[in-house]
Amino acid sequence: METRAQVYEGKAKILYATDDPTLLVQHFKDDATAFNAKKRGTIHDKGVVNNRMSEHLFRYVEAHGVHTHFVERTDDRRMVVRRLTMLPIEVIVRNRIAGSLAKRIGVKEGTAARRRIIEFSLKSDALGDPLLTDDHILALGLVEEETLNEVKRIAGQLDDLLTAFFAQRGLELIDFKVEFGLDAEGRLTLGDEICPDTMRLWDMKSGEKKDKDRFRHDLGQVEETYQEVLARVLAD
Ligand code: ADP
Ligand code: UDP
Repeated sequence: METRAQVYEGKAKILYATDDPTLLVQHFKDDATAFNAKKRGTIHDKGVVNNRMSEHLFRYVEAHGVHTHFVERTDDRRMVVRRLTMLPIEVIVRNRIAGSLAKRIGVKEGTAARRRIIEFSLKSDALGDPLLTDDHILALGLVEEETLNEVKRIAGQLDDLLTAFFAQRGLELIDFKVEFGLDAEGRLTLGDEICPDTMRLWDMKSGEKKDKDRFRHDLGQVEETYQEVLARVLAD
């Protein structure tokens, strides 16, 4: 398989076309952004960690019945994925109240949620990814109802799988963001990445933050934490 022209460059990744129209190469950069890209920086070898960790977690969830875009990892920073038509929404799953939600509703970060929260936002950097209700999504025709129900079901399944996976490694999964798309056959598929950029992980013993919040809030030990989380993920 041959890598062709760049089709998209985002904040954290670059997508390249290939000689197979159904496949893309996803390249992971070290660039880091936070607070709707108001804060920018780089995290040394973040791209390597996120590529390797996404590979591991895509394989894990695929083995447990979640259809993903992952095909193969080709080098330190690149993986081959199925080309998807992305849904225009981000899917956020929360087990505790943290981050922007804690701030927005004035609740202490870390407050337990009585039940899992699944929420959506519009994929729009220009608008700062605003929150969307189910009604907004359906009324605006952003996603078909059947597909949205399936998204929610898979998001719950992913939460159960990932919570158990990280608990075995001494980490509590606080929240995460995933993106879905439709593949060439119209099948709902998990895309994008699963890594410390897109989830909150707290050490179960010390309570320490083991994710991008170290970068967001200048907590130090950013690179070391990414490497540590990768090592814990790969340990069987
Ligand atoms: P952003 O676009 O938010 O800056 P990234 O730098 O992570 O984020 O860019 C990756 C882009 O690729 C995202 O817009 C994501 O929706 C999209 N994407 C992820 N997986 C696929 C896929 N399999 N096919 C097509 N697009 C994808
Ligand atoms: N998240 C993400 N990309 C986004 C927004 C959120 O990966 O554009 C992740 C974030 O890392 C966290 C979860 O989704 O794990 C919930 O994020 P929140 O809405 O609290 O926003 P944040 O505090 O990250 O701005």
